[in-house]
Amino acid sequence: MERGRLLVLVVALGAACSPDEPAAVTPACPPIELPPAPDLSAARASNLILISIDTLRRDALGRYEGQGTPFLDDLASRSLVLDDHASNAAWTFPSMTCALGGRCPEDLGFVPDPYALQGLGDAPVLATWLDDAGFVSATVTASLLIDRDRGLAREVDVLEVLPQEPAEVVLDHALTQLDALRADGRRWVLHAHLTDSHSPYEPPDRYAYLWDDLAPLPVDLDDPRSWSALATAYRSYDDATKLLIQQHFSARYEGAASYTDAELGRFWEALQARGALDDTVVVVFSDHGEQLWEHGRWGHGISLHYGERAAIAMIWAPGLEPLAWPGPTDHKDLVPTLLPMLGLPVPPEVTGVAVGAADPDAPRFAVTLPDERWPLQAVDWQCYTMLYAWHGGAEVYRRDVDPRERHDRSDAWAVTAALWDLLEPEVRRVEPMVDGPSPVPVNAP
Ligand SMILES: [Zn+2]
Repeated sequence: MERGRLLVLVVALGAACSPDEPAAVTPACPPIELPPAPDLSAARASNLILISIDTLRRDALGRYEGQGTPFLDDLASRSLVLDDHASNAAWTFPSMTCALGGRCPEDLGFVPDPYALQGLGDAPVLATWLDDAGFVSATVTASLLIDRDRGLAREVDVLEVLPQEPAEVVLDHALTQLDALRADGRRWVLHAHLTDSHSPYEPPDRYAYLWDDLAPLPVDLDDPRSWSALATAYRSYDDATKLLIQQHFSARYEGAASYTDAELGRFWEALQARGALDDTVVVVFSDHGEQLWEHGRWGHGISLHYGERAAIAMIWAPGLEPLAWPGPTDHKDLVPTLLPMLGLPVPPEVTGVAVGAADPDAPRFAVTLPDERWPLQAVDWQCYTMLYAWHGGAEVYRRDVDPRERHDRSDAWAVTAALWDLLEPEVRRVEPMVDGPSPVPVNAP
């Protein structure tokens, strides 16, 4: 049995250390101290607001390491906030499929290509189940990938697609849709999807103070063509220029996150003024993160490193006790958490688990297909993360002491083997879904 072997491996390696070595040098993870599971039934509400923020890294929030997000920080402190939440993929379509479907594309038999040419077919998602339950619905999205054709908004009554429009426009449209939903008389669900923290990070001029004092870059970031050119040229720059590039990207990104936060604060006030929160569950989450050159690259969908995969998620409802949940969760867990709060059953095809109901030692998986042929897969287990590339190679990190994944520990073979034991069945499950060469197994050095 996999788990039995894992425990033996970890214990054996721990026992190999001399008795007077500190426990920290053994590969055993500290146990995750979980509070009692949240009482979701105490927070029963009629309506639902979903706010998804594209490309917002977890550490952009002041709650974690960022600054300039006072609204989201405050909302998190008043919510069931998932402090170890991860996206199951590193770009919008698969991530939003997991979040809105309670299961991921690979549960439906495919790994999305980088262009999202294949949609969900007739597979149901949250909009389907709420439509069946008699909800009236509206979605306002700045991303083209949340649409009827691919399936994420197929049953939504009113779909407004506002490509790359800023949060103030999207949320103003959302408020207009909200008024119409509430006038309908049925239970309602409103979904707003924001893309301000997606490149090219263009917050309003009032945020330019964040980068105005930096030395100028060798390229003009106000010119969209320069972004891809920079990705190619980055490796040829000296360290000082690389640092400057990182600073410019981080400053613009921070400005975009702050702008999003301010607009969400304004939106929340408008919801309160309308009395729209009195009988409503609100979930705020990011679909995935963004790499800001930590591993020599910029963007998302290119790796499964922390920056791209760590996401935010918080659930607020009038009767829900604030709680910081430290256990591992992912996007599939949102639907089975939300549906009981609305008094609705969780459909049997959902593979996620309600927050508080999962074994904290269960492995958490992710997959992304950056280039059509060579998938990347990840497993988190206890304090470890393995990042695995089908063309060969695995990296192993300790999420508790090295969350930015700077120190690859794959040389610690017992741990690497244990993680591969967990990941390999998932690799074999996905293998027939990808039209490419066979995955190269992780073998002992
Ligand atoms: Zn996205």
